[in-house]
Amino acid sequence: MSERADIVVIGGGLIGCSIALECARRGRGVTVIEKLESVGQGSTARSTAIIRQLYHERHSIKLAIEGLKLWEEWGQYLGHDQDLVRFHQPGILWVVKPEAMSTMPIDTLKQLGAEIEVLDEPVMTRRFPSFRFTGPLAGAPVAGLLEKRGGYVEDPSRAVRNLAHAAERAGVKFRLSEGVRVIEHDDSDLARTGRRRVRALHTDRGARIEADIIVNAGGPHSAALNLMAGCPLPLTTAPNLQAFVEGRETALDWNVGGKSPFPVCADPVSGIYFRPDSRAFRIGTVLPADDRRFLASADEPLPAPTPEFMADKIERLRRRQPGARLMGVEGTSALYDVTV
Ligand SMILES: Cc1cc2nc3c(=O)[nH]c(=O)nc-3n(C[C@H](O)[C@H](O)[C@H](O)COP(=O)(O)OP(=O)(O)OC[C@H]3O[C@@H](n4cnc5c(N)ncnc54)[C@H](O)[C@@H]3O)c2cc1C
Repeated sequence: MSERADIVVIGGGLIGCSIALECARRGRGVTVIEKLESVGQGSTARSTAIIRQLYHERHSIKLAIEGLKLWEEWGQYLGHDQDLVRFHQPGILWVVKPEAMSTMPIDTLKQLGAEIEVLDEPVMTRRFPSFRFTGPLAGAPVAGLLEKRGGYVEDPSRAVRNLAHAAERAGVKFRLSEGVRVIEHDDSDLARTGRRRVRALHTDRGARIEADIIVNAGGPHSAALNLMAGCPLPLTTAPNLQAFVEGRETALDWNVGGKSPFPVCADPVSGIYFRPDSRAFRIGTVLPADDRRFLASADEPLPAPTPEFMADKIERLRRRQPGARLMGVEGTSALYDVTV
């Protein structure tokens, strides 16, 4: 006996739960299927959760500005105030080479309403006194772009639980600890229209669920789900290994100077980005070489970052933050879903 839903969303991460909520609010019957025990435990759980507006395509900037408004009015957007995640807005400081400033989408950001400020090195040094922007250890001369309303979400898993709670209130059904293992598709019109239609899916608990629409929100597993659906997309995605360093304690005084809160820092000149929060300090990598590690399957066990990787990132942090004394340092890996 089959069950039925208007829409089945595969994956209870940030994307799947957002889609489910929006579809339910438009009157559709939605079921979310998540193979883990609870929502928000996939790649979202490991996200650095930086909320920025600086992207290079106009439509991405527009979307990010819309998203920023939702984070700023999170409780209002969700329609509940249960255990809401905190969105901190200390600003995001982009540190770039002065000659790279002309490649930044400054006009587009301004046209679309982003609040930004272009800073030269003396102003940056005055505004952010714990940072080092000059001298041999700081490397190349730099300039800055400050996204004033940028920031980070303190606990991305909790953000997903917030969304799931709102979605449940809007009528979404969640099936947890249940994985999708087969997607039925109908290829009878393929030759004529070039289209396949998905009809139903089967789970590892023996359920068959029919749906008008099946949404692939599987994050790093999305390539595997596309294959299950026999889906001839003109793009291929693959799980991409990311690593970051977490310092659980720090002797650094984040409020040094006392004027500006410590910003999130995106620093392509040093090859890292970093941000503090109340429990951990995170350093991620933006070096192209660190971005080229693809896995055959998102189910492969994730290797821990090597001591050399961690030492390299901490050394890069100290170029910009000479006072940084990280303790309880550990490295963590997570997966992106990347178009290849
Ligand atoms: C280290 C790291 C840092 C990041 N930093 C940022 C950042 O600073 N800012 C930012 O905006 N973004 C950042 N991202 C990206 C952002 O976190 C992701 O784009 C987002 O969380 C992806 O959400 P998702 O719902 O698509 O995927 P996920 O959270 O991975 O959810 C997918 C879900 O699908 C489930 N699933 C998969 N296959 C099946 C199946 N067959 N059956 C049932 N369930 C299935 C999985 O269990 C999982 O729960 C970062 C990502 C990483 C890894």
